[in-house]
Amino acid sequence: MPGPATSLPDSISSLDAPAEPIDSRITDMLSRWWGFDQLRPLQAEAIHSALDGRDSLVVMPTGGGKSLCYQLPPLVTETTDVVISPLVALMKDQVDSLEAIGYPAAALHSGLSSEERTRILNRLAAGELRLLFTAPERLVNTGLLDMLARVGVKRFAIDEAHCISHWGHDFRPEYRQMSLLRERFPSASLHAFTATATPRVRDDIISQLHLRNPDVLLGTFDRPNLIYRVVPRTDRITQTLHILGRHAGEASIVYCISRKETERLAARLAAEGLLARPYHAGLDPEERRKTQDAFARETIDVVVATVAFGMGIDRSDVRLVLHTALPKSLEAYQQETGRSGRDGLAAECVLLYSSADVFSWESLVRKSALESELESTQAEALIAGQIQHLHAMRRYAQATRCRHAALSEYFGQAYGSVSCGACDVCLGETESFPDSTVTAQKIVSCVARVQERFGVRHICEVLRGAKTDGITRHGHDRLSTFGLLPSLDQRAAENLVHQLLDQGMLARSSGDRPVVMLNDYSWELLRGTRSVVLQEPRAGKTRAPKADEDDWQGVDRDLFERMRKWRRHVAEARGKPAWTIFDDKSLRAIAREKPASPAALLRIKGIGEKRLADFGTAILDLVAGRSL
Ligand code: ADP
Ligand code: ZN
Repeated sequence: MPGPATSLPDSISSLDAPAEPIDSRITDMLSRWWGFDQLRPLQAEAIHSALDGRDSLVVMPTGGGKSLCYQLPPLVTETTDVVISPLVALMKDQVDSLEAIGYPAAALHSGLSSEERTRILNRLAAGELRLLFTAPERLVNTGLLDMLARVGVKRFAIDEAHCISHWGHDFRPEYRQMSLLRERFPSASLHAFTATATPRVRDDIISQLHLRNPDVLLGTFDRPNLIYRVVPRTDRITQTLHILGRHAGEASIVYCISRKETERLAARLAAEGLLARPYHAGLDPEERRKTQDAFARETIDVVVATVAFGMGIDRSDVRLVLHTALPKSLEAYQQETGRSGRDGLAAECVLLYSSADVFSWESLVRKSALESELESTQAEALIAGQIQHLHAMRRYAQATRCRHAALSEYFGQAYGSVSCGACDVCLGETESFPDSTVTAQKIVSCVARVQERFGVRHICEVLRGAKTDGITRHGHDRLSTFGLLPSLDQRAAENLVHQLLDQGMLARSSGDRPVVMLNDYSWELLRGTRSVVLQEPRAGKTRAPKADEDDWQGVDRDLFERMRKWRRHVAEARGKPAWTIFDDKSLRAIAREKPASPAALLRIKGIGEKRLADFGTAILDLVAGRSL
């Protein structure tokens, strides 16, 4: 279906025209097609680089609006541009949401029937497409490259460009094949996009893609609408249920480390009446697709996924990302939490932290490096790199300073604000354990009494005064430290020991059955020359952050829910993800403004001419209470 009428320049050469008319043309398109009133500052710069044919590297956080940077230029120049994207699901979602605004785009991927492919190739040949999405491995297919050369492709956008760097956290060897683009299309411009790039990864992207004097555009990494919390993990299931309880009926992603855990937890949540399903790379593709579709169409609320997977899950109104285990890097954390609040509305990101995860990851990292085909020095380098990433993650989880500041600084950006008002630390939710130092001394002396030969569990059982076989067998019920901490339950006690391990106040042997040991700091603690602060393991009180209250200001919640229901029907009927029909931000704006005429509807962000034509009447009816 053709898009709204636009006044387009005749050819790319008209780009030499003064900047002013181009800017107003851009603004005009932005409002007609997308219903947005202005570009974000970095988008404007990125779009100008693209229109100038200058290579660029655009680093913007998830939700920053990268897609518009490559979606808009081909409309201006009436060209077909190519987007390389690592995952089919990502491509499909984008094509769906582009079709919802009448934008001519298509994705070439392995899941197409031969008729579908032919149809796309015909549209490509006829110059009908503005964007063609494809995967990196397809580019070695010379037939496709020839075809792209024939239609005169002048611009390539490389999405998730960090996948090209093995310094990144998500290296994909097939991305390396993209160095070919420069050779085959010497006069085309290349535009790399990523949400996560430390300076080293940035340099690597530039050199691997052979970017020529690129415009490097760095966005701010901070996501002010995300509320970060780190909660000591004591009981995964109870805590998960409690946190999900704050998001009833809202889209949530729950991450676990293992496939088995995702299935167990999803089953448990479903038994509690939640609309939840597991999602991991081991499920058969059909099953995975079903879950993804159900989530996209809002027939399920909660996806329980492995951290290794999930790039394919996309929905702009995710209100909660809950990590029940530690991600393996801050890059991964930023990316996974980045899936929430993409519509700019407040969303919560909770990490259930236990340092036990650090040890599990470490042994997993070692095991998989040793099992790989790599030679030993390479394997060692890989292990060292991954452990560095892991420890940065651990430091973040343990820190008691502003989460927004910590994340920004990790990505090389100073964070201005003193208090973000949107993290557990700044909201004053973290609570220290009463008599931390005395409790720590009791724990450390118990480690000494059992002669540094036992693991965390046994030490805590002794401290709690439990009557286990192991305790009786070793005569540990006669130790002076037996029953010193009777009021703690086992999980809370273990959590405190892990906190001491984290802070380096205790050591731990390596191997399969690690034992807890003493170090210099432990002795200083015992002598009373050192003190510690432990976090209350049962903390979990939360305060409403201001961002969330603001987002709901003046919204008629009843109308909002009715519109969500309507959206679900439309999505179901069209077989499209619900958020591509309308995102939550637009729905809330409607439920706030209650527009009574088509002109008033057009003033809502996210409503352009196509959406007005498609849904205007239905929405006006809903607002006026004439339907549903
Ligand atoms: P990214 O790819 O960087 O993660 P997206 O391109 O998906 O981000 O954009 C995130 C959200 O911001 C989307 O809901 C999109 O519609 C919205 N958005 C992008 N640009 C603008 C703009 N100029 N004005 C208003 N909303 C925008
Ligand atoms: Zn903060």
